[in-house]
This record gives sequence, structure tokens and C-alpha cells, in this order.
Amino acid sequence: MSTTNLKLTSDPIDVPYYKEQNNEVSLFEYAHQHHLPILIKGPTGCGKTRFIEHMAKKLNKPLYTVACHDDLTAADLVGRHLIGADGTYWQDGPLTRAVREGGICYLDEVVEARKDTTVVLHPLADNRRILPLERTGELLEAHPDFMLVVSYNPGYQNLLKGMKPSTKQRFVALRFDYPEKEVEQQILISEANVESHLAFTLVELAQALRRLEQNDLDEVVSTRLLIYAAKMMSSGMDPLEVCKSCLAEPLSDDPETIKALMDIARIYF
Ligand code: ADP
Repeated sequence: MSTTNLKLTSDPIDVPYYKEQNNEVSLFEYAHQHHLPILIKGPTGCGKTRFIEHMAKKLNKPLYTVACHDDLTAADLVGRHLIGADGTYWQDGPLTRAVREGGICYLDEVVEARKDTTVVLHPLADNRRILPLERTGELLEAHPDFMLVVSYNPGYQNLLKGMKPSTKQRFVALRFDYPEKEVEQQILISEANVESHLAFTLVELAQALRRLEQNDLDEVVSTRLLIYAAKMMSSGMDPLEVCKSCLAEPLSDDPETIKALMDIARIYF
């Protein structure tokens, strides 16, 4: 696993800004209090990662984030023997570190990981809360503060990659979606530092573009893309150029679809 997939956050100050959509903050706190794992499903760029970063800081827990991919093995999570100057030594993976320290391990796009990872997640995600390290013969009992959080985008799933019901049923599950208008406007104002009229117009445009989803697009415009657009517009770039490069081109490769998206953008800018 490359180190870019792993991020350690442990500084207790600076809780990242997170605008709550429902009551997910208290739900997370209850789950943490009762040592229950959480599964978050939702489309890309809707705030899943930001939410976990916010909660980890709020609860003052170290956060280990792993972006899962189809080469990710159980050893990438658990750890492996490495060869050093004095021979071989064991190095904990991010999951093991979180289990030992009482941190939060966040597996982003968990359905992408190889199936052997499920084997290590199951005994951690139910009431056993144990992590067997086969290679070292250790049987780790999770620190009381350890929490497992996984996410996936239901839109990307295919039959082969879906999460098994026996895995799903070990988690408290939360569904995320793009925020309500007023919430998304607040997020744009805060994240892109734009004035409220621009935030309002961009959110209205996003709502119109999202209504196209069923017919023309695999994915709809995300809050992340709206933030990009807000930043570019507020720094003086031509609004329609911004709409094309931030809101239309990232969503489709089909010129007809881009044209249809831009026809809508022209109503607003
Ligand atoms: P995901 O993990 O769902 O793909 P992210 O958490 O990375 O998406 O969200 C993308 C960006 O959108 C964040 O970096 C943040 O700027 C913004 N964002 C989305 N939802 C929220 C929210 N509820 N509060 C604050 N910022 C948000």
C-alpha cells in the first residue's frame, strides 16, 4: 500500500468545519460510546470524509484513513514483516494501530478492497472486537475507544463488489446525500468564502442539474464540485467557463450531454 493512502490525524485542535445534515453527529457519538462500528453510504463528494475528520477531532481520537482499492489486502490493513538492518521486524498496519491506540480507522470505499479484508473486519466489527494477527500469533483485543468506520458509494456498486449482507449487518448504517439547499449554501459560503448570492445561485443551478440524473448521467454534481466552482467564480473567472470546467466536463464525456448541462447553466449565469 502506498503511503499516500494513509493519513494520520491526531492534533486535537482545529475541528474541521462540518455542517450537520440530520442528526449524524449525535448518532456517531452514541455509536462510539457503545463501541459500535459505523457504515456510511453516499455519493462522492457529499461530505462523508469531512464528517469523519470532524468527529475524530471532536472526540479527540487519532484518525487512520485508508482509501481502499482493488489491490488492498488484509496485510495492508493489519501489518507485515519488513526487513531492516537487524533482520526482520513487524510493522503494524493502520487498522492495527487504531485497534491498539483506541483510534478511529476509516476505510473509504471499502467495497473496493479485496475479499480477504472481510476476514479481519468481521471479528472487529461485532461484539468480539478482536483482531487476530496470524503472522505474529497475537490476538489483539481492541482498545475501548477503537472505532471502525467504513464507507461506500452505492452508485458504484456492481454485483461482484457489493458488500455481503453478513458484513453490512455488523454496522450501524447511515445514508448520506447531497445536502438540502440551505445547508449546501452555508457550506459554500464557509468552504469557498463566497457571498451568499453566488452561493444561492450555484445551489439553485446544482438542484436543476441534479434533476437530470435519471436520464442522462451516471453521477450528479457533487458538493465538492460546487465548492470548486464557487472558488473559481469568486476569484473572477468567467462564470460560464467555470460551469463548463467544474460542473459539466467532470460529469460526462459526451458532447451532447455537456451541451445540455450548459444550456441549463446559461439560465443561471
Ligand atoms: P466524500 O468523502 O463524501 O467523497 P468529502 O467529505 O471529501 O466527500 O466532501 C467534499 C468536500 O465538500 C469537503 O472537502 C468539504 O469541503 C465539503 N463538504 C461536503 N459536505 C460538507 C458538510 N456537511 N459540511 C462541511 N463541508 C462539507
